Amino acid sequence: MSNRTLAIIKPDGVRKNVVGKIIAQITEAGFTVKGMKLMRMSKESAQAFYEVHKERPFYGELVDFMISGPVVPIALEKENAVADFRKLIGATDPAQAESGTIRKLYAGSKAENAVHGSDSDENAALEISHFFSRNELL
Ligand code: ATP
Ligand code: MG
Repeated sequence: MSNRTLAIIKPDGVRKNVVGKIIAQITEAGFTVKGMKLMRMSKESAQAFYEVHKERPFYGELVDFMISGPVVPIALEKENAVADFRKLIGATDPAQAESGTIRKLYAGSKAENAVHGSDSDENAALEISHFFSRNELL
């Protein structure tokens, strides 16, 4: 799975109606969509997805934000997918993100930052299976 990563267009990105623009930027950067859906996360699913941040002060706020509206999880494929996707989205805080990155273009704040990207090959595999069953993936 080292050529795969999980993206999520977060609720703020869906609310701003920039799902199409974000997907276009992702595919223009050379990623192929292997799975995609528009859905609402349950509280339990969001808590489990961000389990690693359970002890962080922003955990409750993060979970509430992720269930505040629909999200678009996308399984992506490209050589060097994890690192290349994190470069494409930019820093967690849009104020620190390089110009032209998805977060610089569409994120409003560190908390509401438009997109998620997996941070390792191991997490990419776990995160893809969090959202997609095998028959939902190409
Ligand atoms: P993501 O995991 O969503 O791709 P990231 O890897 O850049 O983002 P993490 O450190 O994993 O950043 O934080 C996960 C998410 O938690 C961030 O994307 C953001 O939505 C939220 N977050 C991180 N730091 C803060 C903070 N200080 N205050 C509020 N929310 C935060
Ligand atoms: Mg992260």
